[in-house]
Formats: sequence, C-alpha cells, structure tokens
Amino acid sequence: MTYEKPLPQINADTREFWEGCKQHLITIQKCGNCGFLRLPPSFICPRCHSRKTDWITATGRGSVYTFAVNHVAFHPAFQGDIPYVVAIVELDEGPRLLTNIVDCNPAEVRCDMPVEVVWDDVTDEISLPKFRPVL
Ligand code: ZN
Repeated sequence: MTYEKPLPQINADTREFWEGCKQHLITIQKCGNCGFLRLPPSFICPRCHSRKTDWITATGRGSVYTFAVNHVAFHPAFQGDIPYVVAIVELDEGPRLLTNIVDCNPAEVRCDMPVEVVWDDVTDEISLPKFRPVL
C-alpha cells in the first residue's frame, strides 16, 4: 500500500534524527560546548554557535505543551483521520516536537497531559514518532 500523506524531507542536518526514528529512538542533539539540547537538529548551536555536537537518546516521555483538534482534512489523505490531534509535545529532556496525539479520544487531550512515544512505521525509511497518553 502506498503512503499518501506528506513525508519529512530528510537533509544532512536531520538524517541522524530520522535514522534514530527508524530504530524507534528519539535522538536529540546536545551541544558539545554548552550542553544545550536542540530539536530539530541543526549544524550549529543556537546558544553558543559551537559546531561540536553529540547526540543523546530521549526517554520517549513528555507532556502535551499545546495542541489543536483538526476537524477538517487539509490534505485529502487525512480525510479518514478526522478528527485528529496535532500537538507540540515537550519531551522530558526539554526540547519540543511537533507530532500527533493518538490512541485516545481527541476531546480528552489536555495541556500538560503526560504522554509517551508510539511509532508509526509509515514507509520502509520513515517511522514517525507519535504520542499517546500515559495511563
Ligand atoms: Zn552550545
């Protein structure tokens, strides 16, 4: 079956992040100079401008920072999903991630709700990190 929804555009900065996702790991860049954690990945630290970069693996847990419930499919491939939740999840490590909240009633999603990652293997190359409530 062909995946009809838009896919992430992988580039040199984001390749390692998406490789981690393929292994069901959320990886975050950590500045090798000041320790600042950043997501999405970039080649330079926005705090201290260092190019020294390490990667850490996140726990996959966080909380809903903000969200919206979509009742309109803005792309035809999402028609079967409405209503669905688009959210920014704040990982326990600090960085925030644009994602979906799944496996729950959209009407029950709340800010600060604890969530954990679940993986949507949409193609052989792309696994999308989505989040569900921690019960
Ligand atoms: Zn830095």
